[in-house]
Amino acid sequence: MTHVRPAIAVAVITTFAAIAIGSLMVISGEYPDSRTNPGTPIAIKSQPPATPSILLPSPTATSSKGEAHPIPSSNNPLAAAAHNAKVVFLTFDDGPDPYWTPKILQVLAKYGAKATFFQRGDMALTYPGVRDQVLAAGHTIGNHSVSHRQLTVLPAEKRRREISDGPKSRCFRPPFGATNRKVRSEIRAAGMTQILWDVDPQDWKRPGAAAIADNILHFTHRGSVVLLHDGGGDRGQTVAALDRVLRTLKSQGYKFPAMNC
Ligand SMILES: [Zn+2]
Repeated sequence: MTHVRPAIAVAVITTFAAIAIGSLMVISGEYPDSRTNPGTPIAIKSQPPATPSILLPSPTATSSKGEAHPIPSSNNPLAAAAHNAKVVFLTFDDGPDPYWTPKILQVLAKYGAKATFFQRGDMALTYPGVRDQVLAAGHTIGNHSVSHRQLTVLPAEKRRREISDGPKSRCFRPPFGATNRKVRSEIRAAGMTQILWDVDPQDWKRPGAAAIADNILHFTHRGSVVLLHDGGGDRGQTVAALDRVLRTLKSQGYKFPAMNC
């Protein structure tokens, strides 16, 4: 019997939605040792929302300071989720990886699914062929910084470089999900939208393929953004879980579009 961790990270999909649910998201400060697991996210402790709560940016979304940030729908990375469509956004962080990324691509192709790969700039430079393979298969690429530093503790100039010198994209996901007002402002200044997630099966902890799949299938709903990893270590469990997740969700009528990045 597989124990399913209550590991959903509450939805904070964009800068514009962050305030609305900020009270639900607690960054515990348990930062991993980046020498041993560069892809390890910060543990985010939160309660699952009482109601499905994927928060999409609306054209009239308002920040805590009351500033309106209109998002033209054509620029909304999650536009495919409009009108409560039965879609799930699969995302893969920390690649491209020469061994695991192609295996993920194979499973996605098997089910005709598209995904968004939040890549590290240094990895994309090291493995440009794998990056091209991702694009050629119709997936999109998000910026996951240059070298996966925790942006909230970097001096301003380093923070700016980590954000603006990463893979070219309209979508940015801060390493470890660690963000704050300065990080969000820098992401915006670089012309990108911050993308976090609402379903986190913690595949990087390797709890077993069944536990990863169970978690995703339990917490995913229309418009969910699922956090997985194609880099940062052995992703065999992720590959196995992905096959079962896609088979199950596809049979339930879900579609898997790439984000508009
Ligand atoms: Zn990462």
